[in-house]
Amino acid sequence: MHIDKFDFDATLLTVNFATRLLAMEVDPDILTDRVLEAFCDLGNCQDATLMMYDEYRQLKGVAASLKHRRVIIDEQIPLTKAMHEAAQSLKPVVRPVCDDSIYPLPSKCCETDKTCLCIPLVGSRDRVRGFVTLYRPKEQQWDISELFQLGIISTVAAISIENSRLFRQTIEDSLTGLYMRRYLFIRLREEVQRFKRRGGPLSAIMLDVDNFKSVNDNYGHATGDVVLRTVGQVLHENSRQGVDLPCRYGGEEFVVLMPGSEKKEAKIVAERIRSACEKKEIHAPEGKVRITLSCGISSIEECDPPSADELLKIADQRLYCAKQSGRNLVICK
Ligand code: GH3
Ligand code: MG
Ligand code: MG
Repeated sequence: MHIDKFDFDATLLTVNFATRLLAMEVDPDILTDRVLEAFCDLGNCQDATLMMYDEYRQLKGVAASLKHRRVIIDEQIPLTKAMHEAAQSLKPVVRPVCDDSIYPLPSKCCETDKTCLCIPLVGSRDRVRGFVTLYRPKEQQWDISELFQLGIISTVAAISIENSRLFRQTIEDSLTGLYMRRYLFIRLREEVQRFKRRGGPLSAIMLDVDNFKSVNDNYGHATGDVVLRTVGQVLHENSRQGVDLPCRYGGEEFVVLMPGSEKKEAKIVAERIRSACEKKEIHAPEGKVRITLSCGISSIEECDPPSADELLKIADQRLYCAKQSGRNLVICK
């Protein structure tokens, strides 16, 4: 097929733009959105799905774009014939849409007068990380220039997704799924710098499980780990995604950094977390375990000079005070 100079330049520009957008992003959720957007743009279509293998090699993470609407389908996907073929050949496969190739999209979304393009996402060491499927009317076949662009973007998408997973592993605590202490300090430094330039609220909650040693002693270390995971879940549920930073600070100590929140807002969140943990019944083979938390809260205006260390030091002093005052308390003065 003939590709004239103009088409070639336009193609490079589009691919260049999409490549930068994908390669720069490390947040897996934002990246998923960008991957779908790039494939819909370059594949000139409105309907697409992105399916990724999880760490157990199950094809699980599915996000779809249906006429520009985002849908998350949270179920395990069996390999279709097209996916199988794409995984074997490491090349895109074109198929007329039939019941087999519509899945995982709901069948009403894709009429059978469409064509499906299944593209394998081939990452490092030639490993297939997942698939993208695109849908277009039958009479509108993908031309060679589109397939060329999609081929480049599929490699960039696969590598970017791998990178975002590796990045997440370096900042996430494997037991609780919360951020690690290391990442807390990176973000704390940034937030303190931002405060020095522009002011604005910044609060921290430091939390410690009460009498946790006795949980380990009475129920065993494995149950202790379940307790820590449960606390992690409570912190996660009570943090605003993309704003607050729930972290595992040490063994059974946690910090929630709250950029943009005054102390009184942090107090409400800490009370909510404390009360949620107090109510939780954690099931262990030896019986039901109940725990409580003590919390200390600080805000950046109280720090002289404003620094990450000072913010944590004040929160820690108040946490100590909560322990001294009988535990299962939130102290902010
Ligand atoms: P306090 O109310 O004063 O905080 O008492 P505590 O028993 O919670 O405090 P202490 O510091 O004496 O004990 C903390 C325990 O946490 C000791 C340690 O073995 C346990 N721990 C630390 N990390 C982990 C972990 O990853 N898993 C489990 N199961 N236990 C852990
Ligand atoms: Mg403790
Ligand atoms: Mg402790």
